[in-house]
Amino acid sequence: MPDKMTDLIEELALANRILAHEGVLDAFGHVSARHPTDPGRYLLSHSRSPLLIEPDDILEYTLDSEPVKPPKVHLYAERVIHGCIYQARSDVMAVVHHHAAAVMPFCIAGKPIVPVFHLGAAMGEAAPFWDQHDEFGDTNLLVVKQEEGHSLARALARHSAVLMNRHGATVVGGGLKELVSRSIFMCQNAEYQLHALTLGTPEPLHRGEVKLAGTLSLLPNVVTRTWEYWSVRLEAAGGMPPRRSSAKAARRPVPKTARVTPRERRKGRRR
Ligand SMILES: [Zn+2]
Repeated sequence: MPDKMTDLIEELALANRILAHEGVLDAFGHVSARHPTDPGRYLLSHSRSPLLIEPDDILEYTLDSEPVKPPKVHLYAERVIHGCIYQARSDVMAVVHHHAAAVMPFCIAGKPIVPVFHLGAAMGEAAPFWDQHDEFGDTNLLVVKQEEGHSLARALARHSAVLMNRHGATVVGGGLKELVSRSIFMCQNAEYQLHALTLGTPEPLHRGEVKLAGTLSLLPNVVTRTWEYWSVRLEAAGGMPPRRSSAKAARRPVPKTARVTPRERRKGRRR
């Protein structure tokens, strides 16, 4: 297996755990990445809570969201979200679907999340709404049919995120690090927006500010810095995923971002 596949699988396991540790994901929700060499496939865990995901949990899917190898484990019911978005958006390399507490009040009230501080610009100018009931009537609100996934992808259109009424949100990125950064900052933005409403009417960033600040927060050095910060926080909490269980992967050195300081090690490090 080429190294970039191993690297992406390990990065995907880490992305799951970072997003869970930072409160974007909980027992539910899932993150995927497009296959590094075959754009007609994507990588996603089998059904497991994101905080527990290990590289060996990651499976390969076609864009119809069928597993490439017959599965021996349960799969995420809502994986069509990922496949349908990868079909619709060739620029998207990573997708997360979540029900973060920060965004739920907006999804329930049907009120838009708008960027209200500079890092919030990572979400773009606006996130459209998608109401499953409009097109599909009474459902259990899970997005499980291909036509539901395609409908959600149409609502997302060229945006970076779509809010799902009474359900959650789906966010996309040009890579896993960009996706993690955008998702966390969008949740922080939603929290700030809601808090600010108790003080008055928050004024969103101007259109030009969203563009300029949004570009800034996606610069490679900024994305690397935030990824390292969230990785170290996860490491300090003892939540880092194990390495991939192949001899080749086991021999590879621990990346800088995964190292802990001697002080953190003394405080206890468990896997
Ligand atoms: Zn869901």
